[in-house]
Order: sequence, then structure tokens, then C-alpha cells
Amino acid sequence: MKLGIVGLPNVGKSTLFNAITNAGAQSANYPFCTIEPNVGMVSVPDERLDVLAKMYDPDKYTPAVIEFVDIAGLVRGASKGEGLGNKFLSHIREVDAIIHVVRCFEDSEIVHVDGEIGPRRDVETINLELIFSDIDIVERRIDRTKKAAKGDRSLAGQAELLERLKTFLEEGKSARGFECTKEERAVIDEMPLLSSKPVIYVANMSEEDFIGDIKENKYYRELCEIAQAENTLVVPICAKIEEEISDMPKEDKFLFLSDLGLSESGLDRLIKASYSLLGLISYLTAGKQEVRAWTITNGTKAPQAAGKIHSDFEKGFIRAEVISYDDLVACGSMAAAKEKGLVRSEGKEYVFKDGDVVLFRFNV
Ligand code: GDP
Repeated sequence: MKLGIVGLPNVGKSTLFNAITNAGAQSANYPFCTIEPNVGMVSVPDERLDVLAKMYDPDKYTPAVIEFVDIAGLVRGASKGEGLGNKFLSHIREVDAIIHVVRCFEDSEIVHVDGEIGPRRDVETINLELIFSDIDIVERRIDRTKKAAKGDRSLAGQAELLERLKTFLEEGKSARGFECTKEERAVIDEMPLLSSKPVIYVANMSEEDFIGDIKENKYYRELCEIAQAENTLVVPICAKIEEEISDMPKEDKFLFLSDLGLSESGLDRLIKASYSLLGLISYLTAGKQEVRAWTITNGTKAPQAAGKIHSDFEKGFIRAEVISYDDLVACGSMAAAKEKGLVRSEGKEYVFKDGDVVLFRFNV
């Protein structure tokens, strides 16, 4: 999964991104990826893997990872080619979801590009850049569709749909909120639109506000209203705290956070929110060689889930031996679980559940 961090200048994007790269997933596990400077990888926190690691004492421990792409430089006018605008917009095309950082902290030392803090205006500024860029794409598509419709009358409806979408975008609304049928959405999804990507808002707060009652912060409340209207989530964080704890060993991090009255880091909450927004779950594989988590979309069937490990697993899929994580832990070992008949043999139509511990049987 790839998430793109956007936001106006001076809202705390680099601070958050530094925290992400410091916390970085152990690159030893991913020897074949070259990591670009604007990409940070973090492990997806999953306590179940820790428990399985105790059970199996594996040679290798591999959590799922999320890639964060820092898309700094998206400023007012980016869609019109201001600064390096278009380049940044093209980075956004590649991500699965957008993490939109919004400044909710006051600090007279740190200038705001528009003079004062205002989440509603800030969100609008960034969203409009994405929408402007989308209007260009939709206009070009309308031209092409209209031309093609002269020879193929069945495309007239598509041209009408695109006109409706264009009007909607021109009202300053993001494509993700456009109401349409499933078939129409499929047509829209063919276009590489930016404002149709799922978004999570990150409220970057001061240390005091974050440790205290976050609802006291009026900017946070404003951002929550925006997110609610868009049917999405706000994750409150303090980027400075995230940066401070990012290179601490796990135990120290836990102590530091609990001293502040916090149970987990903002980054971990952001990752969990992204999973839930994108409808992602994890299944697990466990053995002496490796204990590992694999990310899939909720609703994925067994062969496609197997394909995450290797395309041969998907092609040659025979069946999957599956046990729920809870059952496995309750039995204490795979052998005990088998004795109790809790390990099921599932076929091609089986839909994976979060926390399934799996062994695949396949033909080579
Ligand atoms: P970017 O331009 O969005 O990447 O913003 P930066 O991460 O460079 O942050 C801009 C300034 O705001 C820096 O001086 C940061 O130290 C400061 N800053 C970032 N997050 C916080 C925060 O949570 N609280 C306070 N007080 N300052 C912050």
C-alpha cells in the first residue's frame, strides 16, 4: 500500500515524514526495493505477529509494510504548473490514498502561507488544485468521447455523464463525492483522477493540545466537521512528538508515550486508520523459517490471496489450510489445533478473514 502525504507548506509534513523514515521498516527484509528519497517505509504494527514469533521462534520476522510518499511542494497554482506543480501531481496519481496534513497548531515563529491558521481554507486550497487538474483530464476525455460518439451512438450517455462530472468538479467538489451508479463509477475510475482517491486528514497539533483534551482545539474541531461531511477520518497527531519518539527502541517509546498518557503512537493510529479506510486486512503465515503478515483487500478469495506471496501460488492453487489466529493461540500450537480439528481445508471460493493463519497447498 502506498500513501501520499500532501499539505500546504509549513504544516509539519517534513517533520512527520522524518518520523516515518527514522521509524523505517528494516530494509534488510526488502533487499530488492530501491527506496527513493521521498519514500519512507514503515512496518504495520500487529501484535499477533509478536505472539506467533514466540510460538515459532522463526528465523525471520516480516511485518506488512506501508510506503509513504512525501509529496511536498503541492502549492496553490500547482495545477497550472506553478513551481514543480505537475510533477507533484503525477506523484499523487501513483498512491492508493492521500494523507492530507493540516496545521492545527499556533506558533507565531512559523509563518502560515496565508497569514493565519484556517483548516477549512487550507483544505480547500489543496483540494482545489487536485480538482483543477481533474477538470483538465475530464475535459480532454469529453472531447474524445464526443468525437467517438459520432460513429458510436452508445457513447452519448458516457459523454453526458462526463459533462455532469465536470459541472460537479467546477463547483469545487472532489470526484470522490460524486453520486452515480456502479456502472458510471466504473467509467469514472478509468480516468486517473486525483480527487477521487480516498483521503485521511491529519490534524497536526501542538504538544500541549495533543496531550490535553484534543477537542479543546478549535482547528481540530473544524477539521472534524470537514471530514465528517466527506465521510472520512481525522487522525490527530503531534508531528514533533512523532519525530522525537521515531528512533527510540520499542520499550522506551512505550514508556515515553505512557508517561504522556498515550497508548500508541500517532503513526500507528494513522496506519490503522488507513487500513480501515481502504478496507484492508492481513492474513498471516507462520513457520520455523518465517512469521509474516500479508495485506489484502477485504473480500479477497483464497487463490488471489495466495498470489500475494507468489504468482505460482495463485496459478497452482489447490487448497488452503486455515485456522483463525484466536483458535491457534488458544490451542497453543498448530499440532494441538489439528488434533482438535480446528484447522480447516478451504477451496478456491473461500474468502479470507483478518487474522487467518494459512498454509497453502499448490501445484508447481
Ligand atoms: P512542511 O513545510 O509542511 O514540511 O513543514 P515542516 O515539517 O518543515 O514544519 C514547519 C515548521 O513547523 C518546523 O519549524 C517544525 O518544527 C514546526 N512544526 C511541525 N510540527 C509541529 C508541531 O506539532 N508543533 C509545533 N509547535 N511546531 C511544529
